[in-house]
Amino acid sequence: MTHNNGQLSPSCTANILRDISHIPRKKLGQNFLVDSNIVRKSLELADVNPNDCIVEIGPGLGTLTGALISRGARVWAVEIDPELYAYLRDTFRDEENLNLINADALEFPLAGLPPDVPDFKIVANLPYAISTPWLDGVLSGRLPQKMVLMLQKEAAERFSASSSSGDYTPISAMLSQAYAAISKHKVSASCFYPRPKVDSILMALERLPNPLIFSPRAKAAMRFAFSMRRKQLGTIAKNAGEFSPHFLKWLESSPEIRASDRPETVEPHIWSRLNTIIEQTK
Ligand code: SAM
Repeated sequence: MTHNNGQLSPSCTANILRDISHIPRKKLGQNFLVDSNIVRKSLELADVNPNDCIVEIGPGLGTLTGALISRGARVWAVEIDPELYAYLRDTFRDEENLNLINADALEFPLAGLPPDVPDFKIVANLPYAISTPWLDGVLSGRLPQKMVLMLQKEAAERFSASSSSGDYTPISAMLSQAYAAISKHKVSASCFYPRPKVDSILMALERLPNPLIFSPRAKAAMRFAFSMRRKQLGTIAKNAGEFSPHFLKWLESSPEIRASDRPETVEPHIWSRLNTIIEQTK
């Protein structure tokens, strides 16, 4: 079997699934890309060049994978489904540029990319159920130069939300301090097989010149604050346990915010100051 170059059609996809007796698993978000324009667009947005190191999450039937390899990229991919993993192993068996693991992307957010790879990009049609915790994992470590992600519309809105919007959450603030969202494209359900019941967005992100990584403690403090998003910052600060002194210091030293403000109105760069305070006073 040879791999495709991102040219799978709905009937070809249905045939492969039948041949390998695989019924798409809804729980694993198995909606396969069947539109070569979207595959091409994803590679174009990621500016994929020969020898680029690319991480892919959930390669599925290898549509994006094949296209990436055809461009000369080296790919690290993580697929959780053992049947799809076996199919990919067989299909790409002669491919030296594919490093595939059968694992959970939440445990391997960078698909086992070796630490000595100097820089890399992520191109992925994500399983929608894990997009937020997976992105949180990516934002905790080595940051890719670019990310081109297929997302459920609601996740794309959350990721790019600004303060005061109902979609604003810790992930919106953290992402905006490390990446610029350079484009968002609506993708029709007809580009996938089977067709998903949700709307999709292809989002391209570029790493900022001085990206900020929030520490695990700062993330925990922010999550605590957002779990009380209707409460005032002053009340949150008094009830934040080990983080109370940090929140109080943050409030005192941030003229832009008041104790009567709510977490959802605090702009990302002010949250980044809470990160600094927490890290300075461990
Ligand atoms: N990349 C393929 C494509 O574009 O046609 C498939 C994308 S499909 C939306 C999501 C893929 O992620 C499926 O192959 C699914 O089995 C895999 N997947 C789901 N949850 C996963 C997880 N936690 N870790 C790794 N892969 C996962």
